[in-house]
Amino acid sequence: MYDYDLLVVGSANADLVIGVERRPAAGETVLGSDLAVHPGGKGANQAVAAARLGARTALLARVGDDGHGRLLLDSLRSAGVDTVGVLVGGAPTGVALITVDPSGDNSIVVSPGANGRLTPEDVRAAGSLFHASRVVSAQLEIPLETVVAVAASLSPDSRFVLNPSPPRPLPAVLLAACDPLIVNEHEAKVILGDSAIGDDPEDWARILLAKGPRSVVVTLGAEGALVASRDGVSRVASVKVDAVDTTGAGDAFTAALAYRLGTGASLEEAAAYAARVGAAAVTKEGAQVSFPTAEEVDAL
Ligand code: ADP
Repeated sequence: MYDYDLLVVGSANADLVIGVERRPAAGETVLGSDLAVHPGGKGANQAVAAARLGARTALLARVGDDGHGRLLLDSLRSAGVDTVGVLVGGAPTGVALITVDPSGDNSIVVSPGANGRLTPEDVRAAGSLFHASRVVSAQLEIPLETVVAVAASLSPDSRFVLNPSPPRPLPAVLLAACDPLIVNEHEAKVILGDSAIGDDPEDWARILLAKGPRSVVVTLGAEGALVASRDGVSRVASVKVDAVDTTGAGDAFTAALAYRLGTGASLEEAAAYAARVGAAAVTKEGAQVSFPTAEEVDAL
């Protein structure tokens, strides 16, 4: 019996957002809107998305001993995430400085801060969390060697789900642990390292699978997703919704898929549920605040 349906290992950031008429050129100062501060980071987003669906969820992450760190801990706890694995100190909390212009285009500067100080040693010291978790998920907003240590720390019966975002080429040992590797179009192209792979996402899924993961999921926005395993490639239908803001859709999708795998669903079933969760998430503004409850998914 596992204590957690899902252990997420990843980043936690404070997103500092200012609306501007236009973004400043070098040496220029512009005035903007009031500052909005939102909890974010792909690790925290996935943990909140899973907990909101009812998953028993823990997060292994690092925040600074500062106000942003406390904001993140509060938001995680109020979503129902177990924060016993959230380490505090070592560097300021990770921050994303975001300016948004009236057309919705944004410019973002990320200071990884404490996220960059989550070490392989921190992962090894959290062995009890790994033993207690049926599924473990990660992203790439923490050091790559830390993610490799995550893949090496899994219990024999547990399952590893990786969303390699932001994307970069991945070592074979990490690819081999993924079941599934979940990528969008951009991530698929960076990981395959080849702009000449053609336009057919089914081909990307097959080529990615041949690189070693036990399974691959390619998300296709409003087109749904593809699931690839040794049994072949199948399509997961999207749910028709009025999309308002796609921020966080991938995080919600990954969290929902990982959670459902932990409850015994097949990969196809888990991906179909995740597509409903992703669709629900795009019907509201924002990232964490847009993540649906299980009841909201059922009502879709
Ligand atoms: P990312 O945010 O990583 O780019 P996607 O945009 O592919 O990921 O979205 C992840 C999933 O969320 C999709 O596979 C789909 O199931 C769902 N989704 C995203 N955008 C829409 C949309 N406009 N309509 C319906 N479902 C969507």
